[in-house]
Amino acid sequence: MKRIPEPFRIKMVEPIKVTTEAERRRAIEAAGYNPFSLKSEDVYIDLLTDSGTGAMSANQWAGLMVGDEAYAGSRSFIRLEESVRTLFRYQHVIPVHQGRGAEQILFPTLVKHKAAKKPVFISNYHFDTTAAHVEMSGARAINVLTPQAADTATWYDFKGNFDLEKLAATIATVGPENVVGIIVTITCNSAGGQPVSMANIRAVADLARANDIMVIIDGARFAENAWFIKQREPAYHDTPIGDVIREMFAYAEVFTMSAKKDPMVNMGGLCCFKNNEELYRDTQVLCVPMEGFVTYGGLNGRDMEALNIGLWECADEDFLKYRIGQVEYLGERLREAGIPIQYPTGGHAVFVDAGKFLPHIPSDQFPAHALANELYIEGGVRGVEIGSLLLGRDPETGEQKESSMELLRLTIPRRVYTNDHMDYIADSLIAIKDRVSRIKGLTFTYEPPVLRHFTARLNPIE
Ligand SMILES: *Cc1c(COP(=O)(O)O)cnc(C)c1O
Repeated sequence: MKRIPEPFRIKMVEPIKVTTEAERRRAIEAAGYNPFSLKSEDVYIDLLTDSGTGAMSANQWAGLMVGDEAYAGSRSFIRLEESVRTLFRYQHVIPVHQGRGAEQILFPTLVKHKAAKKPVFISNYHFDTTAAHVEMSGARAINVLTPQAADTATWYDFKGNFDLEKLAATIATVGPENVVGIIVTITCNSAGGQPVSMANIRAVADLARANDIMVIIDGARFAENAWFIKQREPAYHDTPIGDVIREMFAYAEVFTMSAKKDPMVNMGGLCCFKNNEELYRDTQVLCVPMEGFVTYGGLNGRDMEALNIGLWECADEDFLKYRIGQVEYLGERLREAGIPIQYPTGGHAVFVDAGKFLPHIPSDQFPAHALANELYIEGGVRGVEIGSLLLGRDPETGEQKESSMELLRLTIPRRVYTNDHMDYIADSLIAIKDRVSRIKGLTFTYEPPVLRHFTARLNPIE
């Protein structure tokens, strides 16, 4: 496979600690066999998340110095607003401290406007904080993702798509008057950073319009989604990426964005409105007590400056070609070695199918988590389980739920690791392959009652 060299040179470096296997065995034992509890210092390559972990450019760092820290009407805000108007054609801009900041001020406002008896939101797949804020606003969150997403071994171009029949059926069942909004998550994080096609977004928007329902984009990885559309949807091969972005956003009326993903800032977010002035004003009312005054929303002036620059940098075609290519490169190395992954790879992560890779470990002994520990011991690489450990127990019966997939997520931060690091990660996993049948499942020594995957302690089953 052809390697795509990094379209940047390195101006500043951050040393990472090389550890011995013996040190890593001690560290993971002390962490209760839970990579979440490792000190970042003890991790050689950290693939826990792509959120807030990107490397800012020289321009973004320079932007920090010219940030305008005025409480109201900051120059940095005005520049950010201009960028949003140009890049997305959305008139009204509210900066927020991160993606969930947008969710906490927008969703209650939408629910109030709709005044439904039994409010619901429908999405291809609600991100976990998105689902939490839907529920906190008194509504129900329903996912209608294409079943193609669960077929990890088969290539489908757009595994993040809505199942349109299921969407129509769900609207009919709950009643269109109860659907507060349809949330289009691009790319679909929970399906592995899989893209949504333009045709699918258009069809969702048509259905929404016919039923008088608002479309909201959750655009944390908007540029990566636009890149996939340009590659895989023939009508867009020759369309400039900016036009692809504007068309995607034209089908919605509001967008929320965690700027910690594509725009490569360590903290920040946006809540923007195409032209619905009333909704914008009402959302601003919640912004002031929750996030901060409407022209900074929890951000420093310098943060808005870096975000403004990052929005343009992440939508650069040479950057996207390298970015998506790097993730694909890691995925291909693993596939060539016969390690099962979600195929094709998505925008921001490679998902190893641990259910298939470690078939001797039952789901209630957490095969993907066992693989995460083994990968750490082998190479100091930290990935994260997306499977039964994350899913938890049935709140009524107390029984462990069985996840439909047991995945190890290797999330690639933007502009942080080189292709040599990708080779090292692949080599580490391949080194495990021969002993994979000897890896042991895990049992709890401490199981927290909620969000247990963050702080749980476990032991290998002898
Ligand atoms: C990360 C993320 C969010 C939440 O954003 P935060 O910045 O973490 O609050 C919402 N939606 C998607 C799709 C995300 O990936």
